[in-house]
Amino acid sequence: MQKTIYVDNAATTPVSKEVLNEMLPYFTEYYGNASTLYSLGRQTKLAVDRAREQVAKAINAEPSEIYFTAGGTESDNWAIRGMAMRLGPKGKKHIITSKIEHKGILRSLKVLEKEGFEVTYLDVDEYGFVNPSDVEKAIRPDTALVSIMFANSEIGTIEPISEIGQICKKHGVVFHTDAVQAVGTIPVDVKKDNIDLLSISGQKFHAPKGIGVLYIKKGVNPVSLINGGSQENGKRAGTENVPGIVGIGKAIEIAVSTMDERSKHLSELRKILIDKVLILPKSRLNGDPEKRLPGNASFCFEGIEGEGLVMRLDANGICAATGSACSSDSLEPSHVLLAIGVPVEIAHGSLRVSFGDDNTKEDAEYVGDVIIKTVNTLRAMSPVWDKIKDN
Ligand SMILES: *Cc1c(COP(=O)(O)O)cnc(C)c1O
Repeated sequence: MQKTIYVDNAATTPVSKEVLNEMLPYFTEYYGNASTLYSLGRQTKLAVDRAREQVAKAINAEPSEIYFTAGGTESDNWAIRGMAMRLGPKGKKHIITSKIEHKGILRSLKVLEKEGFEVTYLDVDEYGFVNPSDVEKAIRPDTALVSIMFANSEIGTIEPISEIGQICKKHGVVFHTDAVQAVGTIPVDVKKDNIDLLSISGQKFHAPKGIGVLYIKKGVNPVSLINGGSQENGKRAGTENVPGIVGIGKAIEIAVSTMDERSKHLSELRKILIDKVLILPKSRLNGDPEKRLPGNASFCFEGIEGEGLVMRLDANGICAATGSACSSDSLEPSHVLLAIGVPVEIAHGSLRVSFGDDNTKEDAEYVGDVIIKTVNTLRAMSPVWDKIKDN
C-alpha cells in the first residue's frame, strides 16, 4: 500500500501515543464521576485539576480561569453569545470582528444580527492583517466585544494581537481571540496580550477531537450557554469529559515544552515547499511570507480548480485541503481569500498544506513535486489555461 502523507494538520491532528497512554486509565480504571465524594471520583477530580493547571500554565492564566468545553466551536460560541447576552441588556449591542474569522465566530454573529445586534466586520490587508487602528476607530460607547483571531487557519497570518489587546484595554472593551490555530504552535500569553477570552481546541495539537477550552479572565462573565449541574464552577454544565480533559492537559504541556524545536522543523518544511512550488508560473503564496504559522503554506494556482487538485493529490497518497475544511463541502470560494483580494476565479484554485510534527523533509520535497506535476497536468487539460497563460 502507498504511504499516506498527511499535510492537513490545520484541520486536525492525530492523538499522540503519549497523550493516548495518559488518557487510557480514565476510560476504564478511573471512571468515577469527578463530582462524587468517594475516592474513585476523587482520583478523577485530581486529574481534572491537574489538566486545568497544565492548560493555565501554557497560556499564562490562572487555573480558575480555565473552562473545559467540547471544542473550539463551543468556546467561540460561548465567548460571542455569552458576552452578547451579558452586555446586550445593558445597551451594548455592537460587536467588532474581522472578515476572515472562523465560521464558529461568523455564524454566531449572524444569529446575533437577527436578534438586533450590530456587527462591524473589519477589512484586512492583502496579507490578511487586521489593522489595530481600524479596531480603535470602530470602537463605540455601545461596543460589547472585539473578537479577532490569533492566527488564521487558512492562510496562516498571525494577527497583531498584543496591539489589539492594548487598545481594547484602553477603551474598556472585552477582547476575545480565537487562538485555536495558535495555541500549541506559537507562544500565547493572555496576561501580556491583555486577552479577556480565548478559545482553544485540543484536536489541533494532538489531543482528541471534541475537547476544548475557553479561558475566561477573572471578572469577565459571559452568560452560560449550557445549563444543568454545577460542573466547571457552575458555568458549563455536564459531566466532565475526563479522558479528553486529561488528554488536552498532557498535549498542551508537551506542545509548549517542545515548541521551539517543532517550530524550527515546521518552518524548514514550509520553506522547502514554498521555494519549490512558487517556480510554477501564475502561482501565489497567500498570507504574509514571515508572520505566518510555521507549518502553513497556502497557495493559489491560476487556471485550475482546488477540488481537482486535492483529489489528484489524494490519489498520490497526499492529504491536503482546498479553502478550509469547513467550506470543502460547498462550492463557494473561501471568504478568507476573497477578503485578502484574491479574484473569485483564482480563489477557486487554492491549496492549503499544513505540516505536522510527523512530516519529514522528504515529505515536503515529495508534496512539492506532486503539486508541480499535478498542476501542470490539470492546466494542460484546462480550456481556460490557454487563454490566461500568456497574459
Ligand atoms: C478548527 C478551528 C475551530 C473549530 O474547532 P473545533 O474543535 O473543530 O470545534 C475554530 N477556530 C479555528 C481557527 C480553527 O482552526
